[in-house]
Amino acid sequence: MAFISSGYNPQKPMEGRITDIGPQKYDSMFPPVIAKNFGKWLYHEILEPGMLMHVAESGDKVYTVRCAGTRTMSITAIREVCDIADKYTGGYVRWTTRNNIEFITDSLETAKALRDDLNSRKFEAGSNKFPVGGTGAGISNPVHTQGWLHCHTPATDSTGPVKVVMDTLFEEFKNMRLPAPVRISLACCINMCGAVHCSDIGLVGIHRKPPMIDHKWADKLCEIPLAVAACPMAAVRPTKVDFEGKKVNSIAIKEDRCMYCGNCYTMCPALPIADKEGDGIAIMVGGKVSNRMTFPKFSKVVVAYIPNEPSRWPTLTATVKKIVDTYAANARKYERLGDWAERVGWQDFFKLTGLTFTHHLIDDFRDPAYYTWRQSTQFKF
Ligand code: SF4
Ligand code: SF4
Repeated sequence: MAFISSGYNPQKPMEGRITDIGPQKYDSMFPPVIAKNFGKWLYHEILEPGMLMHVAESGDKVYTVRCAGTRTMSITAIREVCDIADKYTGGYVRWTTRNNIEFITDSLETAKALRDDLNSRKFEAGSNKFPVGGTGAGISNPVHTQGWLHCHTPATDSTGPVKVVMDTLFEEFKNMRLPAPVRISLACCINMCGAVHCSDIGLVGIHRKPPMIDHKWADKLCEIPLAVAACPMAAVRPTKVDFEGKKVNSIAIKEDRCMYCGNCYTMCPALPIADKEGDGIAIMVGGKVSNRMTFPKFSKVVVAYIPNEPSRWPTLTATVKKIVDTYAANARKYERLGDWAERVGWQDFFKLTGLTFTHHLIDDFRDPAYYTWRQSTQFKF
């Protein structure tokens, strides 16, 4: 397409420059009934999966219809969301902290019509565009990351695994029949962008081989001390190597100290680490962020490695489903997955889910690892 200027002048880049204006004020896009009752809500009810009612002191009622968003969306899809909002809710719409979409109306009839309309919309291939659900004790949207779509450090994809996991657990998105909500999150590397470290089920991309070292470029592309300091295991050190008849400053990695975190690659482009057969996904469970009943918890690794199996990741989806089903069958009402696992004991978590306990799951990272071992005779055979 031919170049079309926005009015920006590259000869005078600072001229007419607007900066530090921040986002639009949060209340500038409030639906009128929200603006009117702001801070004056009395109670709420979940009328059915995906539909909430909030009642204000004034007696005003608002109905919220929540539907899934794919998070990665085309402008075409967002325009369709806007069309729906124009048709039913006066042009107002909001996104949730789990990237679902909520439409708010003050009429129950409108909410029901909206629900049916959202549920009827499909992509050409058959997937629901905006399935209604995600409330109460079910499985809402997985918080996820960039994957092979955009990031350079992933060990797995993001949108792909999330799609197949939610295909497998779609009934739990549309229902509220679990003991408590189950939060699923995915990060494509152990940077853990997002919420994997504090989710009921966390899926995280991992490597199993040390980085390759591009001696030709290491000293040219990298600030070598940063790569040294990036390593949690002190496996990286500076060195001189013979490269094409010349002595060059480069990097050496002690492979028996490396646990393939990929941090040094984040710092230094000359240390690529991704590997088709080596890379895969670890599953963590039992995290939560709320203070309800028990303190917030980190999630814990229960499956050290599942291979990447694009495009449907069958081993991953089957394992996640097994964990969810076992939790649903065994936990008490209000027990989050971590509350349940800690009550019955992790040995019973493994027994009930049938997951294999491997030595990889035993913490061996620095002094705090000791506190994860069992300093008690209390356990179940
Ligand atoms: S989790 Fe890692 S690979 Fe995924 S977006 Fe974040 S930094 Fe990139
Ligand atoms: S991948 Fe991680 S553990 Fe291995 S050398 Fe790089 S920073 Fe160290």
